[in-house]
Amino acid sequence: MGKHAIVIGASLAGLCAARVLSDHYDRVTIYQRDELPDSPDNRTAVPQGKHVHLLMARGAAEFEGLFPGLLDDMVAAGVPKLANRPDCIHFAAAGHVLGTQTTLRKEFTAYVPSRPHLEWQIRKRALAIPNVELVRTSVAEPRYEPAGERVTGVLLDAGDESSAVAADLVVDATGRATRLPVWLDQWGFGRPTEDTVDVGIDYATHRVRIPDEVIKEKVVVAGASREQPLGLGMLLYEDGLWSATSFGTGKAVPPQSFTEICELADDILPPHLSAALRAGEPVGDMAFHKYPMSRWRRYDQMTRFPKGIIPFGDAVVSFNPTYGQGMTMTSIQAGNLRSVLQSSDPDIAGRLAQATKKTTWPVWTMNAIGDLALFNAKAEDVPWWYLRVGNLFDQFLGAAETEADLAEWFLRRFSLLDSLYMVPDARTLGRTVRHNMGLLLAEKFGRRSKRFTPSPNDRDPVPSR
Ligand SMILES: Cc1cc2nc3c(=O)[nH]c(=O)nc-3n(C[C@H](O)[C@H](O)[C@H](O)COP(=O)(O)OP(=O)(O)OC[C@H]3O[C@@H](n4cnc5c(N)ncnc54)[C@H](O)[C@@H]3O)c2cc1C
Repeated sequence: MGKHAIVIGASLAGLCAARVLSDHYDRVTIYQRDELPDSPDNRTAVPQGKHVHLLMARGAAEFEGLFPGLLDDMVAAGVPKLANRPDCIHFAAAGHVLGTQTTLRKEFTAYVPSRPHLEWQIRKRALAIPNVELVRTSVAEPRYEPAGERVTGVLLDAGDESSAVAADLVVDATGRATRLPVWLDQWGFGRPTEDTVDVGIDYATHRVRIPDEVIKEKVVVAGASREQPLGLGMLLYEDGLWSATSFGTGKAVPPQSFTEICELADDILPPHLSAALRAGEPVGDMAFHKYPMSRWRRYDQMTRFPKGIIPFGDAVVSFNPTYGQGMTMTSIQAGNLRSVLQSSDPDIAGRLAQATKKTTWPVWTMNAIGDLALFNAKAEDVPWWYLRVGNLFDQFLGAAETEADLAEWFLRRFSLLDSLYMVPDARTLGRTVRHNMGLLLAEKFGRRSKRFTPSPNDRDPVPSR
């Protein structure tokens, strides 16, 4: 289709884009401004890498489709694999501990790589593709030709013509801080409108060594709730250490020390898990990160757009990170890019923007409903039905505490499997209503619902494997 494609940014989005482009362009050059370690280490350009990153089951499958053999290699390198082991997962959403611990009817496989490890594995594979090259240089800006209303390449470092590199297509994968809206404005196209949600998320993470025999879970997720604006995620990574990430929603301040993380765990985790954390030895320093706003740049709504450039990854949409979807949604964007390139339609940017809108909308909307209805987020022009759907969903999660089928349905949709729409079918809704009617009747006779569903682990603080 083309001779040369340029990708700006060698993080997850840039690497996935390069993989797809390598099938359609003679050469793909990735320009990366900041240093890239030879090993699976954190890097300064991706500060979020120090915090818990959930890889959704859907994302794992999509990345494997792009880079065959990735998952087996990750497991060989020590990445935990949860193959139909529901007892490895403690999952609480909006204050409801889901009854996923005993039964999963459908096959469910999840992988738990750290963010640096996943990126390193993907980087190795992307850079091994014969027609993909990485150049450690910053791109100053795309090179724009007004006569043809098209981007014809990039200007490196100094930003003058002597540094120009020609390309048929330029991919902006520079993340949330993308300057594409500014450039579009300078070129006379205006900026894209933005959908935003002020989520006011504040992350605080400590790495912890917890003896194996103390804990059998590998994924512990306790999201924030209406009553408790703080949440906690704990993942066991390939280096044998746990990452314990606490977060505040709606500008709530998260723990500032390991001791405070343990105190939060006492409040929102079952006793055997908070005891396991307390039995752990904190490693290194705390890491902090602020994420004030989810942002969707609506390139799909622009009526004019230059040829020769496409935005990709977080540069288009950055999702509330506490839902753990960003990397998976990037892998889905890569699938969209592949379909668009296979279609041979010359309007690559337009078709990709529409395809990405289709996959982004359901996930963005459900996140916004959760943020605004349950987690004190703020946004302009909130549709009237958001709050109602949020309340209904809270009731659904209440029912999923004890209805294993509902819990499994939620786990799969949360993992972006089956469908990107978080809309229960009539049968599933019927079960919710029946369940909640039962609860109402039980309350009438004086019984109260419990915050935590006791699991066998609660009775046995040191579970056997
Ligand atoms: C706190 C936090 C927690 C998160 N947790 C999760 C999670 O649990 N699960 C999940 O799936 N996702 C999570 N995410 C989202 C995930 O990190 C991103 O979706 C993912 O990193 C993809 O980002 P990206 O590649 O688009 O951009 P980035 O990772 O931001 O990378 C942009 C790259 O572009 C390079 N660059 C920038 N400008 C230039 C230039 N001019 N020239 C050359 N190179 C340039 C940068 O050096 C960098 O390498 C989280 C995000 C945050 C902030």
